[in-house]
Amino acid sequence: MNLLVTGAAGFIGSAYVRGLLAAPDAPDITVLDRLTYAGTLTNLPSAHPRLEFVQGDICDAGLVDKLTADADQVVHFAAESHVDRSIDGAGTFVRTNVLGTQTLLDAALRHGVGPFVHVSTDEVYGSIATGSWPEDHPLSPNSPYSASKASSDLIALAYHRTHGLDVRVTRCSNNYGPHQYPEKVIPLFVTNLLDGEQVPLYGDGHNVRDWLHVEDHCQALDLVRTHGRPGEVYNIGGGTELTNRELTGLLLDACGAGWDRVDHVPDRKGHDLRYSVDWTKARTELGYRPRHDFATGLADTVAWYRDHRDWWEPLKRGAGTR
Ligand code: NAD
Repeated sequence: MNLLVTGAAGFIGSAYVRGLLAAPDAPDITVLDRLTYAGTLTNLPSAHPRLEFVQGDICDAGLVDKLTADADQVVHFAAESHVDRSIDGAGTFVRTNVLGTQTLLDAALRHGVGPFVHVSTDEVYGSIATGSWPEDHPLSPNSPYSASKASSDLIALAYHRTHGLDVRVTRCSNNYGPHQYPEKVIPLFVTNLLDGEQVPLYGDGHNVRDWLHVEDHCQALDLVRTHGRPGEVYNIGGGTELTNRELTGLLLDACGAGWDRVDHVPDRKGHDLRYSVDWTKARTELGYRPRHDFATGLADTVAWYRDHRDWWEPLKRGAGTR
């Protein structure tokens, strides 16, 4: 079995690949990743008999065709993933997230490859004050990032409905864990605090997110790949809802810092108040259960950043840091 995994030099894709390679029955894996500012080879084993790394762009139709011809299945993570960057400029988001996904789908169709797991986000649903979205809730994305992801979800599902391609879409909540590029809230705050710097809290800090350990997400993704149904969407949640203010308090405690280290900054434009997915379908149909309790997962994550300055310091110093 040859699995093509896109975007696996990034945070979640690399966790997925490391997890698969740790199993005795690991498939052969080809990673296609452009190595943008968010991707680093230090996220992947430097040499593994079952792993091949190809640096390239998912919009490169010739390269994608060649790699897909050799693949049996695809798990598609590659994306521009940071909402703030999509507010600064949406061009690369539309290019990679929409055109790149369509390029991969075309190649999968030509070569009869499937399942094709398309990794998406809860942000495609918009914002919800109370309750949780089921998978059939209409999409109402607000940021250029979430709009580009919603577009790619719809194109992926259209390839199932129109052509019968075995596409499976997942929509997860906010991931946390080791190897996350230090621009997203948890690694940004932890690394700033470890360096004695301030942390920027958006607006009143009352925006709510559901936190999902990256390994739980990867467990769910593999259940979808191996036991999901073609043409279906699966929500994946973690089960810990926190306001950004509550999360900040936990991170300050974990790093031994006080509220004087917090700068209150103007809110993100169009900041969604709350995301919440109903993941009953993944639980009942696939047996998905998050295994990481948040307190332990967060403590382990903070400890990982404390112990791995060699991983994040070069990234933070790099020109790509926003
Ligand atoms: P990330 O930004 O850490 O990694 C993205 C990877 O994609 C990088 O390695 C980058 O080099 C690669 N990439 C970007 N453009 C590319 C291109 N044109 N061609 C080839 N490779 C390219 O992202 P992540 O946090 O690991 O997210 C992975 C997926 O999960 C994304 O599709 C994202 O939308 C989705 N998602 C993430 C979260 C989260 O909390 N991080 C939540 C919901 C959904």
